[in-house]
Amino acid sequence: MRYHKIPDETIRRLPIYRRGLLFLSEQGQQNVSSRNLAGCLGINPSQIRKDFSYFGDFGGTPGVGYNIQKLIKQINKILKLNVVRRAALVGVGNLGLAILAYPGFGIYGFDIAAAFDISPKKIGRKMKNITIEDVSNLRTLKKRKINLAIITVPRDAAQQTADALVKAGVRGILNFSPHHITVPKKVKVITIDIAMDLARLPYYIPAG
Ligand code: ATP
Repeated sequence: MRYHKIPDETIRRLPIYRRGLLFLSEQGQQNVSSRNLAGCLGINPSQIRKDFSYFGDFGGTPGVGYNIQKLIKQINKILKLNVVRRAALVGVGNLGLAILAYPGFGIYGFDIAAAFDISPKKIGRKMKNITIEDVSNLRTLKKRKINLAIITVPRDAAQQTADALVKAGVRGILNFSPHHITVPKKVKVITIDIAMDLARLPYYIPAG
């Protein structure tokens, strides 16, 4: 089944639904109503129903709800999480190291399979089971079947890193550098700027 014109906001929520469903499944639950899933995730039930409606029949039965395992499978299929995805990380500074050490990517099927840096002090060092490579090795990514990358280099190196990744055949980039990077249309970039998100927070805190 092909899915067309799904809003980005809906795609953004699918991993949230997936997380809630996995939690309910671990609790031994087999079915869930949109109301209960909504309650567990703090999301409006009608939002969930609307999101699910983009994908046709998600197997919901009135009075019984959705079959949790079936739903997880379908979400995995839509997000294309049903295969292991190999990713590269570029820039093994403080943030890069923390990401390499983070164990939470596995449940989505991500395997950070390679890490690169420009500093001779870092190249050759081993982190977990990954030996940090020279950035010039980025050109080997295609051959190694790595088409996702995480950028954790400083701002002024972000665009050149993205260019090298695109040239190496990378199709998806998670960009942690505080820089807007420009890529061809066929490549998807998601930027996470932690400091910028923090900068919004004081607005919501009462003065005094
Ligand atoms: P450290 O002080 O250990 O370098 P940091 O987090 O302060 O850590 P940053 O200046 O943010 O370091 O750089 C992050 C990492 O990106 C560093 O390891 C740096 O060597 C690396 N780096 C910088 N420029 C490039 C580049 N063009 N290609 C690949 N890696 C790069």
